[in-house]
Amino acid sequence: MYPYIEDFAAYDHFAKPVGLWMLADILRPVADIAYVNILQRNIPELGLKSKADGTGHFYQQVTAVPEVLSDIPRRWKRYGMPEEILYQKLKGLDWQPDWIFVSSGMTYWYTGLSYTIRLLRDVFPSAMVVVGGIYASLLPDHAALQGADVVVPFQQPAKVANVLSQLLGVSLRGEKVVPDYSIAREYGYAPLLLSLGCVFRCEYCASHRLLSFEPLDIARTLRAFDWLYNEKGVRHFAFYDDTLLFQPEKRLKILLHHVLEKGYTPVFHTPNGLHIRFLTEDVAKLMKKAGFEDVRLSLESSEEEFHQTHQQKAKREEFLRAMEILYKVGFSRRHIRVYTLVNVPGQSLSSVEKTMQFIFASGGMPMLAYYSPIPGTPDFVRASSLTDLSDPLFHNNTVYLYRSGIDVSYVQHLHQLEVNYRHQVQREESPSP
Ligand code: SF4
Repeated sequence: MYPYIEDFAAYDHFAKPVGLWMLADILRPVADIAYVNILQRNIPELGLKSKADGTGHFYQQVTAVPEVLSDIPRRWKRYGMPEEILYQKLKGLDWQPDWIFVSSGMTYWYTGLSYTIRLLRDVFPSAMVVVGGIYASLLPDHAALQGADVVVPFQQPAKVANVLSQLLGVSLRGEKVVPDYSIAREYGYAPLLLSLGCVFRCEYCASHRLLSFEPLDIARTLRAFDWLYNEKGVRHFAFYDDTLLFQPEKRLKILLHHVLEKGYTPVFHTPNGLHIRFLTEDVAKLMKKAGFEDVRLSLESSEEEFHQTHQQKAKREEFLRAMEILYKVGFSRRHIRVYTLVNVPGQSLSSVEKTMQFIFASGGMPMLAYYSPIPGTPDFVRASSLTDLSDPLFHNNTVYLYRSGIDVSYVQHLHQLEVNYRHQVQREESPSP
């Protein structure tokens, strides 16, 4: 089950619980599985619309803001289907689950998780509730206080299979695990994963703490892709990889050649951002040909000092080389979005503005990504010296924005700059009357 989210804002921008689908692949040989994603959007009673790429708003209800966040001038919401629909789904099962596996996302979403567990206890009082996912891995002691019976504090498939084998008293396979798409229920778009983990160690990111780099089985992935494309009619695919362009000949190029050989016409999306350093002309050409419409790049900052302190992902000259390649193979500004981090500890807002100007001048569209402190990272320690982070609710990027001492009016100016750039591109690219 994927639980409710409680936050000031949340949106289904290619957000599907792919970790739960991998868990289903592990458990499938030994268990009957019922799957509930509380964030499911294609329920007729909810009346939610989707964009052409399948993304859209979650169902949401305004609810009382936690007392400790009452100083934040924003509305607090619970995202996910109404409780009566959830109860119908749970009570409509014609069998009682012995085990319920609940995922978790950001650390600051734990109130939605505990709320969900209370509802589950109400319907299935005798089931064992197991919590896994990102929050459970980053803060297992805190997660243990949210009402579950067991917390699984890691995500690597082999380790998860091992601990579940012991818990359930069965033998589970942890190799060659891929998402089990058959349980998804929503096929407006499909997430794709060619590998887990990342080969970098940026100081604001916990990827390496959550997962070591591990390629997924490409043969099984191709079969899943065929099934999604042919049986479910999926046309939009979003890569969830942290390092999609790493060793492309072993995974990405195989998939894209497969797509071209079959004559498929999908549209690929890269919500996580691509590693600029790994972009080569032959891969970019293949990407363009196989259906990448939008490309998102992870630059984060053009400032040398930022790269020395927080990450080693991409330098200015590597970014310029990547832009040259993308233009050469046929992408234009409208289709090249470049992530720009805001409010990383020690970062000045004038440096963010310079980065945005540099991206736009180089032919890309800057996209602001607001920093949130992640436990266990060096930048979390730096952020802790700026504001109290003792409650995971305080890790929320909106909360941190208001409390980190940053000039909020300057942030609003940067947001307006981002909007202005977008409008400028729309004007430039719209046909003249
Ligand atoms: S490259 Fe991306 S996923 Fe990898 S460590 Fe840096 S921010 Fe995290």
